[in-house]
This record gives sequence, structure tokens and C-alpha cells, in this order.
Amino acid sequence: MSYVAPVKDMLFNIQHLAKIDQIAQIPGFEDAGLDTAQAVLEEAAKFNEGVLAPLNWEGDKNPSSWKDGVVTATPGFKEAFKQFTEGGWQGLQHPAEYGGQGLPKTIGAACGEMQNSANMSFALCPLLSDGAIEALLTAGSDELKATYLENLVAGKWTGTMNLTEPQAGSDLAAVRTRAEPQPDGTFKIFGTKIFITWGEHDMAENIIHLVLARVQGAPEGVKGISLFVVPKFMVNKDGSLGARNDVHCVSIEHKMGIKASPTAVLQFGDHGGAVGYLVGQENRGLEYMFIMMNAARYGVGVQGIAIAEQAYQTAVRFSRERVQSRPVDGSVAAGASIIHHPDVRRMLMTMRAYVEGCRAMSSVAASAYDAAHHHPDAETRKVNQTFYEFMVPLVKGYSTEMSLEVTSLAVQVHGGMGFIEETGVAQYYRDAKILTIYEGTTAIQANDLVGRKTSRDGGQSGKAAGSAN
Ligand SMILES: Cc1cc2nc3c(=O)[nH]c(=O)nc-3n(C[C@H](O)[C@H](O)[C@H](O)COP(=O)(O)OP(=O)(O)OC[C@H]3O[C@@H](n4cnc5c(N)ncnc54)[C@H](O)[C@@H]3O)c2cc1C
Repeated sequence: MSYVAPVKDMLFNIQHLAKIDQIAQIPGFEDAGLDTAQAVLEEAAKFNEGVLAPLNWEGDKNPSSWKDGVVTATPGFKEAFKQFTEGGWQGLQHPAEYGGQGLPKTIGAACGEMQNSANMSFALCPLLSDGAIEALLTAGSDELKATYLENLVAGKWTGTMNLTEPQAGSDLAAVRTRAEPQPDGTFKIFGTKIFITWGEHDMAENIIHLVLARVQGAPEGVKGISLFVVPKFMVNKDGSLGARNDVHCVSIEHKMGIKASPTAVLQFGDHGGAVGYLVGQENRGLEYMFIMMNAARYGVGVQGIAIAEQAYQTAVRFSRERVQSRPVDGSVAAGASIIHHPDVRRMLMTMRAYVEGCRAMSSVAASAYDAAHHHPDAETRKVNQTFYEFMVPLVKGYSTEMSLEVTSLAVQVHGGMGFIEETGVAQYYRDAKILTIYEGTTAIQANDLVGRKTSRDGGQSGKAAGSAN
């Protein structure tokens, strides 16, 4: 199914809503003006339209597979991932210090949307690496940063997020995976994590798992959770890869959508204990994981916009080609395509309005993120951080619920053909459903918005929204 990146619409938002000219005045972003944004988006469009989009349908028919603990990605994915990393796309918005391109999230988010429109299953892998990089940058020790960041930013290694266990989904207080301290300062990790996206695969040399676990004797509930780095292969002092760590993929799930993205059950410590390295301080794991979750939740919101955009484009193409009856208002002669029917136009315009509204919201949030992380003035950073955190559950919750409506309308515009797999829109509808579930269901986003981000400070964050950027 073809995809044409909406570069013009994206640049409009980047210029007028995200205000890229203001971002380019922030030290470190001097070269990240509108011209740079345009050049990067045009290159990204070529890669995503030409390399990732043609593999999307294949991924649905021929999902990742598991055999004896080894997961093999859909044919073509490994080669595409190599092209992705060689093009420097993983490092787009990460610091130059670790080999990234140091561009603003405002530009990175638009490229992320393209990746997800083209191939959501594929795009999940770099999305989770982005989250792992962000968590290590914020909470990792100098040693952890030196050991892992460069290869993660290069895409040579990929990252995962290990929260969920059979009894701990929305409620992370129920996490049971345990961490036993060792005399050398490392920990041995024991437990089972389920639903781990790209938790095992053959596209990268190493996989860096960020794992929530409880150190022996830690307090009950969320106050006793710590965060650990658990590499699939141990990393030697000289940076080369060492022995296999004791973390193994015992199966992957059969799913209704995003079939090419392997969803792994990971077993830690069945053969003596998986070696883990504490990130930051003990018992502050959830706080650190929230950094990763905020990055991933924003990214999942963008996935919603992306799949809705792709569904919209497919519906427009179909409605221009399909000929069926004369419009009820008699405006066009018989034999015209269905795009002339007022109801079809209503559906298409609804889809477009939703997509553009959500893209505008996410552009403004990305711009606030850039100011929050890079502006020289501390007060401006604080106001923008508050605003960004307030926007994350909205971008995630609203854009993903929106994607269900839009992909459903895309099926409707196709009539019976929409229900037939060959048109591709059925896949978008199935793929979109996970977006309102993972990274916190819509109810969890609502709790976050109403509880943490509104009630807790008497609505101050919401009010601060007006003065951000
Ligand atoms: C394909 C896929 C990929 C995933 N990838 C990852 C991953 O990479 N890493 C990872 O750690 N996890 C991952 N997950 C797990 C995912 O984040 C959880 O499935 C999700 O958080 C929901 O948890 P649950 O499935 O246990 O549902 P539950 O928590 O059991 O929720 C069931 C229902 O109860 C509602 N509910 C629960 N608590 C509340 C509450 N407090 N208030 C209101 N309503 C509530 C929910 O909204 C939902 O409707 C993935 C899951 C899938 C299916």
C-alpha cells in the first residue's frame, strides 16, 4: 500500500505552531531552522515511502517467528533496519555527544510519524530504543551511559521496556520480578516479563532491556521498585560483546495486529540469574521509568496520528477510483466516483480534520519539550516541562482513540472491500487497536491527566499551559 508523506502539512505545523524559528534560537539548535526541517523531512519521506511502506503488508502476512528461543523478523525487516541505522535515523534527536544528530523533537516527531505511517510494526523498535536512550540520559550513571548510549543511538543495539508481568499490567505496584544484590555491585534478576515489544529479534547485535524489579527487602508497592539495565549479551570492558546473559525469550504472542512486531515473554534468571545494573538509586525505578514512559506515550500518540493519516490517504485514493451511483443531490452525472457523494465527503473530511487536529496538538507539545530540555532560562524550561507533561496523556489518549475512529471510517469508505484484507485498510484498523491499550490504556491516561496533572496541584499545570512556549 503506497504512502505519501504529508511533508507540506508537517512543515506548516513546524513553522507556525511549533515555531521552529524560536527553537532555532536556543543554543545548540542554531542549525535547526525551517530549511533544515524541510531537508530532513524530504529525506525521511524518501526512506519511509520507498523502504518501510512496501514491507508493511508483508509484515501482516508473514509475522516475526519464534523457534527455540530465536526470533526471526519478517523477511526484509533486517535489511531495512540496516538501512535505517546507516541513514542515522535512530540518532536524529539524540545528543551529538553520543553520535546522534542533536535535532529538536519538533523535527524528530514528524519523522517518527512517517515511520509509523509507513510501517508501525517496524517503527516500534526504534520507538522503544528512543525511550531507553532517554531514560539512560536522564538517570544513568556515567559508566552506564559510556557503555550503552553510543550503540543505542547508532541503532547497533536496540532497547526495550520491561514493565508488564502476568499479575502487573496497569497496576505496576504488583511487580514481582526480584533483584538480588551481588558483592561486585551488580544484581541478579529473577522473574517473568510478558508482552515485551521487540524483546527478542535478529535485527541488531544486542538488546538492552530496561527492567523494573524489586530489590530484596524493598518496601511494598510502587515505592519499592527499582530500574535495571539487563543486556542480552554482556558487554566487555573494551566494548566488545561477551557471554549471553540469562534472559531468554520463551515465546511470542499471536496478535490481531502489529503482527511483524514480536511481543515476547522474557524469562530472567532461569539459569542462575540475569546480570542487571541498577539505574540511578534503589526504589526510584518507577520515577525513572516514567521518563521512558512519557517518551513512549508521546510516541504512541504519534503512532495514532500516523496510522490515521495512512488510513485517510488510502480512503481518498479508493474514493477517487470507485464508481457507484449518482450523488443524491444530482450534482454529478451517473458514472462519477464515490468521492462525489456527500456522505463519503463527510467521512473523508472528518478523517482529515481529526488527523490534522491531533498533528497540530503533537507539534505544539514537541516544541514545548524542546524548550523544556534546552532553553537557557530555567523558568522557561520549567513552564514548558509542566506543559509538556500535561500534554502527554492528551496526545496519547486522544490521538489513539481518534485513530480507531479514523481507521474505522477508512473501512467504511471502502464498503465491502474494506472488510477484505487486500485493500490494506483492514490491517490499519486491526493495527490501531493496540494503541489505546499499551503504554497505559486510555483510562490510565485519563487518571494521569485528572489525578497527577490536574487535581494534585489544584489545576496549576493546566493554567501554566497558557504561558508555555
Ligand atoms: C502488543 C502489546 C505490546 C506491549 N508492549 C509492552 C512492552 O514493550 N513493555 C511492557 O512492559 N508492556 C507492554 N505491553 C503491556 C501493556 O502495556 C499492557 O497490556 C497495558 O498496560 C494494560 O495492562 P493489562 O493488559 O494488564 O490490562 P489491565 O491492567 O488488566 O486492564 C484491563 C482493563 O481495566 C482497566 N483498568 C485497569 N486499571 C484501571 C484503573 N486504575 N482505572 C481505570 N481503569 C483501569 C483498563 O483500562 C482496561 O480496560 C504490551 C501489550 C501488548 C498487547
